[in-house]
Amino acid sequence: MGKKLLLKHDNIPGINTYEVYRQRGGYASVEKALKTMTPEVIVEEVKKSGLRGRGGAGFPTGMKWSFLAKPPGVPRYLVCNADESEPGTFKDRYLMEKIPHLLIEGMITSSFALGANTSYIYIRGEYFYVARVLEKAIEEAYANGWLGENILGTGFSHHCYVQVGAGAYICGEETALLESLEGKRGNPRIKPPFPAVAGLWGCPTVVNNVETIAAVVPIVNDGGDEYAKIGIGKSTGTKLISASGHINKPGVYEIELGIPVEEFIYSEQYCGGIRNGKKMKAVVAGGSSVPILPADLILKTAKGEPRLMTYESLGDGGFQTGTMLGSGGFIVMDEDTSIVKNLYTFARFYHHESCGQCSPCREGTGWMEKILHKILDGHGTVADVDLLWDIQSNIEGKTICPLGEAAAWPVAAAIRHFRAEFEEYVKNPKSIKDVKHYYRLREKV
Ligand code: SF4
Repeated sequence: MGKKLLLKHDNIPGINTYEVYRQRGGYASVEKALKTMTPEVIVEEVKKSGLRGRGGAGFPTGMKWSFLAKPPGVPRYLVCNADESEPGTFKDRYLMEKIPHLLIEGMITSSFALGANTSYIYIRGEYFYVARVLEKAIEEAYANGWLGENILGTGFSHHCYVQVGAGAYICGEETALLESLEGKRGNPRIKPPFPAVAGLWGCPTVVNNVETIAAVVPIVNDGGDEYAKIGIGKSTGTKLISASGHINKPGVYEIELGIPVEEFIYSEQYCGGIRNGKKMKAVVAGGSSVPILPADLILKTAKGEPRLMTYESLGDGGFQTGTMLGSGGFIVMDEDTSIVKNLYTFARFYHHESCGQCSPCREGTGWMEKILHKILDGHGTVADVDLLWDIQSNIEGKTICPLGEAAAWPVAAAIRHFRAEFEEYVKNPKSIKDVKHYYRLREKV
């Protein structure tokens, strides 16, 4: 059984309440940080831990914190990105709903380290119920003296607010999130300046994912070195994985980084293998925007080494033969899955969610969706497959924010690894099985 740092108490009845959370050692990191540590020491501990952003990019958290500008007299902010919208990703929802005080504790400890007297949790509109859970936890934290003025008599004051978004995927991009938090349309900003210099209302701001902020709690409690002992190389600590698709045991799992992908998919402790005794066809390892890999490449790298659940191992071989850990949205597909249909649903999603600021993304996402629609309608040609490839390659690296790449990478990977399936569909349209399902999908919207 792997070590658990975040979900060690998730099955304790009442752990969502202050009383039970506190009985289990909750808020110890706030006490330790405020009474015995300086902000600089906490930042050092987070650096030592090797913690990397758990939202998808995997940027070292301690380094991100150290970039925060500190002009005198200017407020600083911590913003928690709880706009979890990447298809296949639902681990932050689980954490917030089950153990809301863990996030609130992480917000207070992290804010102390950053010198922020105000923080915001920006949560996606669809998580309305979870927002209520968080608000209740914040009320309890105020009532018990963990939030407010002069916390524990240390002179540190902090206020934390929940802001519900309106359900736009793009507001998960940190600068779009800040625009939305300021009450504007959620359009990504051109960087630089980065939020660490000019973020919320033009002030220095750190934006961190829910899981990242929660991980600060065990790091402060046990020390950065202890956290770094878990994992392999630059992939330290534990990671929450949202497992879905054609597996026997979908759900949210906390893994020690470094376990083999094969163990994660097939062991009873985690996904429990492919359902109905089918074979695995492909896996999207880090949420819908990362490149899909066929079964052989997700289990073993191109060098023949076992693929591990780490940033480095999943990325081994670049996008030719590798992928990304991303947000940890692990979608497993069995042998009956149509990669082209799956890609169409992703393409529709990204077209719908494009904010429209950049032409390659605004036009390219719609164009790719239309071509995939044409192929699935039985009217595609081989030239359409080449055109798809051409369009995606003209989006990557040419847009303001990463949604362009998020839309382009799945198309590139699907063609790279499953071109034969596209060609079969265009040469022999009768091979497009389960057309009814495809039409039901269209009618629903
Ligand atoms: Fe908007 Fe797409 Fe450009 Fe991002 S890449 S700013 S979502 S148009």
